[in-house]
Amino acid sequence: MRELCIEPNPVLRKPARPVSAFAAELRRLAHELIETMYAHDGIGLAAPQVGLDLQLVVANPSQQRGRELVVANPVIETCQGRAAVTEGCLSVPNLWERVSRARRIHLSGQDLSGRPLRMDAEGLLAIVLQHEIDHLQGRLLIDRLPWWRRWRVGLKARNSPHACA
Ligand code: ZN
Repeated sequence: MRELCIEPNPVLRKPARPVSAFAAELRRLAHELIETMYAHDGIGLAAPQVGLDLQLVVANPSQQRGRELVVANPVIETCQGRAAVTEGCLSVPNLWERVSRARRIHLSGQDLSGRPLRMDAEGLLAIVLQHEIDHLQGRLLIDRLPWWRRWRVGLKARNSPHACA
């Protein structure tokens, strides 16, 4: 398990590097991401949230062990429809905001062996993946809010402690 990085930690604002080495080390990091996600009752986690500069995300809206989705270098190829869900983020504690995103996405990326991966996602999985892929670009859910809600959230965020780095 790894320590979570909390806003305004700068690591959360930095675009992550692509995964280039698909070896045992990457599987270990993915395992740590998954365990950290479960330890905090999350349904998704991105590597920058634990201070890792890597394009790696894990997701599991079902929260059932063994059903984790792990994607390296994920890219949203196409989006369809709109869906607004109340989201939270482990890196932005005590904040729940309705965020508008695509209802369905087509995703490409790689698995932990480096094999190309393509998938369609909809519903909560599509939302989680969009949220996590935002993290890889240094974007947080608060950036998806209209300015007046961001301003209100900013007042709260200033009091957040650094969890790491
Ligand atoms: Zn998040």
